Amino acid sequence: MILVLVLLAFGCWAQEVPALIREPAVKAALEAAKRGEGQAIEDQVALCEVPAPPFLEQRRGQMYKRMFEQLGLRNVRVDAAGNVIGERPGKQARPNLVFSAHLDTVFPEGTRVSVTREGAVLKGPGIGDDCRGLAVVLAVIRALHEGKVETPGTITFVGMVGEEGLGDLRGVKQLFQETLKGRIDKFVSIDGTGTGITNVGVGSFRYKVTLKGPGGHSYGAFGMANPIQALGRVMAKISDFQVPSSPKTTFNVGRIGGGTSVNAIPFEAWMEVDLRSADMVSLEAVDQKFKAAVQQGVDEENARWSGKGKLSAVVETVGLRPAGRTSEDSAIVRTAMAVAAALGQSAELREGSTDSNVAMTMGVPAITMSGGGVGQGAHSLGESFDTTDSWQGTQRALLAAVALAR
Ligand SMILES: [Zn+2]
Repeated sequence: MILVLVLLAFGCWAQEVPALIREPAVKAALEAAKRGEGQAIEDQVALCEVPAPPFLEQRRGQMYKRMFEQLGLRNVRVDAAGNVIGERPGKQARPNLVFSAHLDTVFPEGTRVSVTREGAVLKGPGIGDDCRGLAVVLAVIRALHEGKVETPGTITFVGMVGEEGLGDLRGVKQLFQETLKGRIDKFVSIDGTGTGITNVGVGSFRYKVTLKGPGGHSYGAFGMANPIQALGRVMAKISDFQVPSSPKTTFNVGRIGGGTSVNAIPFEAWMEVDLRSADMVSLEAVDQKFKAAVQQGVDEENARWSGKGKLSAVVETVGLRPAGRTSEDSAIVRTAMAVAAALGQSAELREGSTDSNVAMTMGVPAITMSGGGVGQGAHSLGESFDTTDSWQGTQRALLAAVALAR
């Protein structure tokens, strides 16, 4: 019974979207979104030219905060993690829809972030992922104002930190666990380019494994356990893991290091490992195999040399993204699909690892929507964004925001 009431209170069913699109205010906002695409592209370039390396999003965050203030959002603030937050109150405080994009990039400090234009194509690191999302969020706010759209529920706009790599979703974790704890009813992230709707959150566990021993002379101390050779044993086991193809589950040793000299038994060797799956049970299964492989490799190396120069292993977690899923039949997914259909656009459901992962594992309806246009080379220095008809992505995000803030 409670569930039914919650659905009645918070659910915008997909059937309502075609009626919504005929409301004068919504119509006006959609027109404003199309008309304002030039401004959205200006914002996209301007934001992208302010560097935002992992853990160093402050400068771009400050700029985003000023933009939120200029657009008249209420209660604009930066939380403890560095997330930039601003509200557009609805007739009621709830439901509260969080509508976000991420501030950070994968690019290290010192990367040249200037954007060049050739015709309709913009080039620059981060131009699509996720300067596009950041710009679309601003364009949605602007269009809502221009159309004077009043939403029944509140929309909380967020520029999120820590989405990429070792950022490990720390911004969205902070948002759900502290900043807006218990006050998020739906979650949308605008991330990247194209027409995808991500409803399956691929989880990942990432580790740094360090094997240590006393080390010694390759000739004089021969007969001592060797951390690099032990690492070889561990890697051979990992290479032979059998994993399901559905749900897709993967493993990768991405980096290795260690050693002192060609004529020294090393005192240390390390590797970085990434395990992924869209399914938490499968992820945990491959995780257990991995941990067992580390222990077995070390035990075998110690046994091989009768415990001389005994090795130990330290397994350090460097990333933990929980796997999650928003059902295809959920109101939020159906609404997003109906939004695309109402605008005469195509849309496809996808898997991915995004800020929505955290929302999904908290049981909050969540999707990540692509920001329109055509992107290429995400996470590379040669990243590009083709702005041809990119206003369609802005309109889609806008209509989704209106349809879900109720
Ligand atoms: Zn992204």
